[in-house]
Amino acid sequence: MNKNYDVIIAGGGLAGLTAAIELSQNFNVLVIDPDAYPRHKMCGEYLSLEVDNYLQSLGVDVLELSDSKIDKFSFSQGSRTIRTASLPLGGIGISRYSLDYHLYVKAKEYSDFLCDRVVDVVSFDNYYKVQTTEFELQAKQVLIATGKRSLLDKKLERPFIQKKSPWLAVKMHYRYEMPNDLVELHAFHGGYAGLSKVENGDVNLCYLVNYKTFKRYKNINTFNHKVLKENKVLCKFLNTAVPVWDKPITISQISFEQKEPIHGKLIMIGDTAGLIHPLCGNGMAMAIHSAQKASHYVTQFLNKEINQAQLLSNYSKDWKRTFSSRLRYGRWLQKILLNKSSSSIAYWLLKRFPFILPVIIEKTHGKHIQP
Ligand SMILES: Cc1cc2nc3c(=O)[nH]c(=O)nc-3n(C[C@H](O)[C@H](O)[C@H](O)COP(=O)(O)OP(=O)(O)OC[C@H]3O[C@@H](n4cnc5c(N)ncnc54)[C@H](O)[C@@H]3O)c2cc1C
Repeated sequence: MNKNYDVIIAGGGLAGLTAAIELSQNFNVLVIDPDAYPRHKMCGEYLSLEVDNYLQSLGVDVLELSDSKIDKFSFSQGSRTIRTASLPLGGIGISRYSLDYHLYVKAKEYSDFLCDRVVDVVSFDNYYKVQTTEFELQAKQVLIATGKRSLLDKKLERPFIQKKSPWLAVKMHYRYEMPNDLVELHAFHGGYAGLSKVENGDVNLCYLVNYKTFKRYKNINTFNHKVLKENKVLCKFLNTAVPVWDKPITISQISFEQKEPIHGKLIMIGDTAGLIHPLCGNGMAMAIHSAQKASHYVTQFLNKEINQAQLLSNYSKDWKRTFSSRLRYGRWLQKILLNKSSSSIAYWLLKRFPFILPVIIEKTHGKHIQP
């Protein structure tokens, strides 16, 4: 196999695949990911429509991939539900099984893929050494797109990985009747759950809970029964919905600690640069958007229009300008939602002043991304 590339991308999720599609039009690109496609992944599977034009320009028409066009949002707490008429930009319900696979097929047209794990990346003056479990490779530029948390973060000694990450997420697809155009958010003790339809009509239940609350119940079934069912909407859902898979997907140690888009001379994209709280429903769009930004500066660098220091500084400034305030609002919203008294006040306010909700949602989203 070729061992020298213009660009090596560690991680083939949404950020890595988007960057591969962009950069492989002009450079030779290798994507390294340990898992084969298609595969299910932890996610609420609500994709903000800020990315549809951009993805279409890359050759992936997401509006063709799913009939589940979502423009309504409802929120419940205990036995109380409210509903807003519309989401400012809206989104679609699409499984990661389908979305990642379509991006992968497109990326594969011009990029090489290696099914392996990156274990180390070392930077030299004008190249990088990338160590996988099997190979030592070289590239003029490297993008790190390994997601929320990876052993590579430990190897690179990133500060966020030293801190505790007490969050656990659970996802399962079900057969259940609910409107195509609705995404629901339901609060329960210690966490919250999202419900929305994906492209094949299945309903995705995805929830986030702090480990302190979960550990009292030992397993997911007991937790669902004792805690999720305290919420009236989730109780009805769990009593009637039919699971599609044998068992749910789970991940633990999810960290919302602040990260940096640059580490040493390494460029981070997607969740590797920063993870927005899932209740905002904007992580996928941010991953795709950050990949577009990084690809733009890497292209300028490889075409010798800017030097390495400018590449790192321009990307870092652009990333912070675009995403920092969304992350801040996300942290603030999650705090409110998970606190019983503040979420009761928020519920009361939203019931009386429903126009506030679209304004809050806008703060955690961007505008349509221009191709
Ligand atoms: C519970 C939950 C619900 C969510 N719901 C939503 C939602 O409804 N809407 C939304 O927009 N966002 C949501 N998000 C956020 C969204 O899932 C992420 O923001 C998005 O997946 C980020 O894409 P990514 O490419 O950065 O990472 P990922 O898609 O996680 O991809 C990372 C890739 O890197 C690979 N990898 C890891 N380590 C290595 C290594 N050492 N070497 C090589 N490859 C490696 C992995 O195999 C993986 O394929 C949710 C997140 C959570 C936790």
